Amino acid sequence: MESFRNRHLFPIKRATDENDGRNPIVPVGLWEKCPQCQTIIYSKSLGKAKVCPHCNYHYRITAGERLSLIIDEGTFDEWNTVMPTQNPLDFPDYDEKLQDAKWRTGLDEAVVTGTAAIDKKRVALCVMDSNFIMASVGKVVGEKITQVFERATEERLPIIVFTASGGARMQEGIMSLMQMAKVSIAVSNHSDAGLLYIAVLTDPTTGGVTASFATQGDIILAEARSTVGFAGKRVIEQTIKVKVPEGFQTAEKALENGFIDKIVIRKDLRKTLQHILALHEPGEVGDEDE
Ligand SMILES: [Zn+2]
Repeated sequence: MESFRNRHLFPIKRATDENDGRNPIVPVGLWEKCPQCQTIIYSKSLGKAKVCPHCNYHYRITAGERLSLIIDEGTFDEWNTVMPTQNPLDFPDYDEKLQDAKWRTGLDEAVVTGTAAIDKKRVALCVMDSNFIMASVGKVVGEKITQVFERATEERLPIIVFTASGGARMQEGIMSLMQMAKVSIAVSNHSDAGLLYIAVLTDPTTGGVTASFATQGDIILAEARSTVGFAGKRVIEQTIKVKVPEGFQTAEKALENGFIDKIVIRKDLRKTLQHILALHEPGEVGDEDE
């Protein structure tokens, strides 16, 4: 746990702006520009939940930040920490891309898995991190998520998956696409064992992840204003030559069309999960002693 905290809760920020002497030097990370309302915000005023105080925009957060908002402190037990990603197709520049993502995020892959307690209830968790190659799903991401479902089925644990993904990892070709079927089977087996799976869709949840495990939850939540969709807007418009409507591919639109069950504001998410877990706690109907 200690090493995980050190690696992930305080992600490295890299100075990207070259200073040519004309601009004042501002420490990196002190101010943020809200991507939605364009207001310049003092970073600290975003709070731990990283939500814009002006327009309620939910910033994309790291897997470590997500865990620290949701779980009981000090309860995370990480699984499958050693599962190296390979370059099965010898795809040009993929090794460099992986190295760069590792360096920038402190993660080994785009998903962190394990168990933790939420309000003292033990759950299995998968947290995807869009900072790592847009949390695209390759062999290792698929395998880690599959193994969580398998182990949670054995240990009879509920699962919460925080999805955030650009879809399949193109550098791994067909291997990447195969992950959808593999994870889906593990989800199905977990479900057949009568266990609870809560999917929490965060910004952005797209591609093969939407087409498989993100939408297989018994209960599907989504963070407010997240992008939820399959193919990108531009691809659809270019392919079918039709302008897509306003608000298309948002969590709100998905709710309207019945694809998700509830939209949750980030600061309420832990409480909502606590409530759902409490409601679904296995009962002792009929086999309890008097
Ligand atoms: Zn804003």
